[in-house]
Amino acid sequence: MKHIIILGDGMADEPIAALGGKTPLQYADTPYMDKLAAMGVTGLLKTVPKGFHPGSEVANMAVLGYDLNKVYEGRGVLEAASIGIDLQPGELALRCNLICIEGDLIKNHSSGHISTEEADELIRFLNEKLGSDRLKFYTGVSYRHLLVIKGGDKRLDCTPPHDIPLHPFRPALIKAEAPEAEETAALLNDLILRSQQILPGHPINQARIALGKDPANSIWPWSPGYRPAMETMQQMYGFGKGAVISAVDLIRGIGRYAGLEVIEVEGATGLYDTNYEGKADAAIEALKTNDFVYLHIEASDEAGHEGDVDLKIKTIEYLDRRAVKRVYEAVKDWDEPVAFGILPDHPTPCAIRTHTNAPIPFIIYKPGNTPDKVTCYDEFSAKEGGLGVLEGDQFIRELLR
Ligand SMILES: [Zn+2]
Repeated sequence: MKHIIILGDGMADEPIAALGGKTPLQYADTPYMDKLAAMGVTGLLKTVPKGFHPGSEVANMAVLGYDLNKVYEGRGVLEAASIGIDLQPGELALRCNLICIEGDLIKNHSSGHISTEEADELIRFLNEKLGSDRLKFYTGVSYRHLLVIKGGDKRLDCTPPHDIPLHPFRPALIKAEAPEAEETAALLNDLILRSQQILPGHPINQARIALGKDPANSIWPWSPGYRPAMETMQQMYGFGKGAVISAVDLIRGIGRYAGLEVIEVEGATGLYDTNYEGKADAAIEALKTNDFVYLHIEASDEAGHEGDVDLKIKTIEYLDRRAVKRVYEAVKDWDEPVAFGILPDHPTPCAIRTHTNAPIPFIIYKPGNTPDKVTCYDEFSAKEGGLGVLEGDQFIRELLR
């Protein structure tokens, strides 16, 4: 049997008065997810272990069965993997934002969503002026870049810049959490201050200011970590080849460490205008040569963050009609049957516009298996599911078993 997980990021929600007390999943018209729920078994899965924030990287690693307490090293290292940086033992990776400061305040964490092309020039300039054999900047996407330090200590207290807009930056500079990390903290704070001296005069920033845009006039490193001690999924579960399809760099990074091939899809944007059919077709193609495919679609999470209920319903209906249906119809008569896992990573309730750690509803459909009594897919139906409440690697092991 082959296996596919179709993950609708953030699609779980809470009852909404404007929908007559229904959740978007209950309200949306999703004949295919309901059909798979009716033919399969359902339940709830805890995807955010105690002590962790309900981030997508945490929840997606949990869906794949990783023990976060053993392997979680922050976002920086996952993004590093997604752009092909193979971290070596002893190397410290940090997410390095290009931010905009005004006076002593952090104006925004994104330099007004600077383009990757502009940012790439600034990153090259930073390497030229501040880089060394020990220290290197890498271009990522837009304002999201990386800094790698050989022999850096990760015991650092760093503040994500998106948490402190319009706050003074100096009190948020990096602090050592252990005496051995003081050298690394001092090095990083020195880099931040030196970047603020050299970035404002760069022609890219001068041009942005002339156009009334925010300059990228400071770096801001955070989320320090080492190469995660992740076994591949092949090592953990014993299947052959696997692949991941996602527009989100964190998910692609997880996929690389998990031993999955990262498949590129034209027009995969991470938004509601994403190329659903292209991603579904890529998943169908990948299933022909892989034993496991992870198809991640971000759109519902974005709708949740925007607090846009109508858009969230639309993204759920798109997922059903343009991804689940398309894959199911294509593979249902294959000689080698395909098992489906369908779930979100975490709820992103429209009412609060951010992630929560509530357990999420899932479907496991394996051709030939006896279904439970649940006949539609949503947060409340899945509570009655035959698999109850799962945690840890129970969901993925049940799917792959
Ligand atoms: Zn997510």
